[in-house]
Amino acid sequence: MELKKRRKLLLINPTNQSRKGFVYVDSMRFMPINLGIIAALTPDHWDVELLDESYEPFHFIEADIVGLTAFTSSAYRAYQIADIYKEHGITTIMGGVHATMCTDEALEHVHTVVQRDAESIWAGVIKDFEEGNLKRIYDGGNVNPEEIPHVRRDIFKYPYTYDLIQTARGCPMGCDFCSVTLMCGQKYREREVEAVLDEMEQTKSPLMFIVDDNLVNNNKKAQERAIRLFKGMIARGIKKHWLTQASINIADNEEVLHWAYKAGCRLLLVGVEAESPKALKEMNKKLNLKRGVDSYEKAFARIHKHGIGILATMIFGLESDTVEDLYARRDFVLNSSIDSYQTTVLTPLPGTVMYKRMKESGMIAMDNYPSDWEKYQFMYPVVNTPNISHIEMREVMKDIWISLYKKDTIRRKLMKTIWNTKSLSAAYWTYATNHNYGRMLLEHYIENEPGGLNYDMEFKSGKRSRYLKITDRIMILIYKLSWERLLANYFQSNKHLNKQ
Ligand code: SF4
Repeated sequence: MELKKRRKLLLINPTNQSRKGFVYVDSMRFMPINLGIIAALTPDHWDVELLDESYEPFHFIEADIVGLTAFTSSAYRAYQIADIYKEHGITTIMGGVHATMCTDEALEHVHTVVQRDAESIWAGVIKDFEEGNLKRIYDGGNVNPEEIPHVRRDIFKYPYTYDLIQTARGCPMGCDFCSVTLMCGQKYREREVEAVLDEMEQTKSPLMFIVDDNLVNNNKKAQERAIRLFKGMIARGIKKHWLTQASINIADNEEVLHWAYKAGCRLLLVGVEAESPKALKEMNKKLNLKRGVDSYEKAFARIHKHGIGILATMIFGLESDTVEDLYARRDFVLNSSIDSYQTTVLTPLPGTVMYKRMKESGMIAMDNYPSDWEKYQFMYPVVNTPNISHIEMREVMKDIWISLYKKDTIRRKLMKTIWNTKSLSAAYWTYATNHNYGRMLLEHYIENEPGGLNYDMEFKSGKRSRYLKITDRIMILIYKLSWERLLANYFQSNKHLNKQ
């Protein structure tokens, strides 16, 4: 049999250079599992190496093909790297959501774009390259879930905090601001539970992030599948703490919550987005609108009852928002029983209905593409809405973020979470999440104004209130009783992992 020439595929996960964002906080650097899938689909006579800029500064590595992925906020960086390789005559291929939505733009920097799912076409892309027939565009469409391979995890040479795993793709909801339905389709494509469990058994971290956009979708069948998955985790002894993402309807089925907790779920990212029907209607958040904002607290209470903390996503700066609306949303977060909160600035992503509408009505202030894509990171206002300019929005959000994430606030939230969930591990996780989001959202102020927020958020200040001093001790105790114990138990029962 003829031996095939050995080749090299270099996979690069570029990071936004204008701010550190997720890279700022260790536990927020996530493994690029889409590149792990590409590695799994690549033929054996190809060596595969990953360069993740969130851990390692970019440096030139020789390869036959360079594969890049990017969200919109990291697209500009991807192009800069692609340009370097192009100058060296090395083939560059880009996939991911941004290249799918802005294919023509990406093709100005890379040789080839792979749109949507890669599973159905990657082997063909490699073959075409080897035969000198590489095309400019490949569209993988939305593959059947059976075609999704296990992520090839040996390429992840960095110390990621979480193992990521995806059990399904697609979302039928089609929210106005979101590109998931466009990218992954309306159909909820579920992988076989047993295949997911097999892959979970290959993961090594005691912490896991199930990255489905909505683990329970909007129907009973998906809820039953979730229960089967959770029971399977217990049966196989997969003892991890994990978080996942879901719509608020996950609270409807207490059996789902019961088994989720038993299987290790301690944190649920729930798409709350806004507290007013007007705002929900504007963003086409049909599910929340239909259920009514009055139903939120009942749903939160149910999730808490099962020992699980809530990480709510909240969007600020909708087209109809006034400054008063922004503060009302802030107050809702503070006064509700939400435990932790991802509070982002409305950002029109290319390809979405919202982007088209805002572009046509001239609202987009930052449109010097591709460099302005760096600002599309959900923390930087890029539009002038009818009521608030992007400049005013920056000032207002700074004020709102300080009040939401200052240490006194997040410590009070922590106490409330302990009371509501009776789970120290959920409480610690939600607290750490708030702490990390605060550091990310306010990174410029933390860095540039050491006498300002830094003084309050970090342990560097000599002048601390009695409240903070007392709660510092409580925090250490909570950590020891929950997470330290979890990690010790995990590594004790998985001694083999330490040796690998
Ligand atoms: S925001 Fe969530 S529910 Fe809405 S389309 Fe995106 S993934 Fe689906």
